[in-house]
Amino acid sequence: MFFDYIKRRFLKLWNKLNFVWIRFFYPSNIVIIGKCNKCGHCCKSIMLYSRKSNYDGQAVFIKTEEEFLVLQKEEAFYNNLKVSGVTSNGELQFECIYLQENKCSIYKHRPDFCKEYPSVKMFLLGGSLYTGCGYRIKSKKDFKYYLDNFKLR
Ligand code: SF4
Ligand code: SF4
Repeated sequence: MFFDYIKRRFLKLWNKLNFVWIRFFYPSNIVIIGKCNKCGHCCKSIMLYSRKSNYDGQAVFIKTEEEFLVLQKEEAFYNNLKVSGVTSNGELQFECIYLQENKCSIYKHRPDFCKEYPSVKMFLLGGSLYTGCGYRIKSKKDFKYYLDNFKLR
């Protein structure tokens, strides 16, 4: 029990450190623009990163109930997610029980990862926006920058 508690605390800290590492040591060229149009897709088709990674070291989404149980042990909030579908790649999708009439019923108290959505970190880990989302990803640099700096020799 005590060991599980320590493990959960360590993993939370590790995730936060991972975020700090990505933000400060891997500067991003992308910015997020636009605004939420309240379509609700991001609360109905949630995809969760697995603790595993693929052969390139890139993050992958969970595909099995066992992987979901691992995440539930680490983060109590995941107990509020119900499986709602599966993508053509076999990745599980979840719906949050707090989404009611397309609105978050705990908006002021929603978890940090909901407040941060969509984040730059998500894109750096290989994530993308839902079809119809009001946000867009934009490069900080224009075409001229890439044409001037990455000319074929
Ligand atoms: S998918 Fe995008 S537009 Fe739709 S609710 Fe989520 S953040 Fe808002
Ligand atoms: S807590 Fe609210 S914002 Fe977060 S997934 Fe659930 S319904 Fe969406």
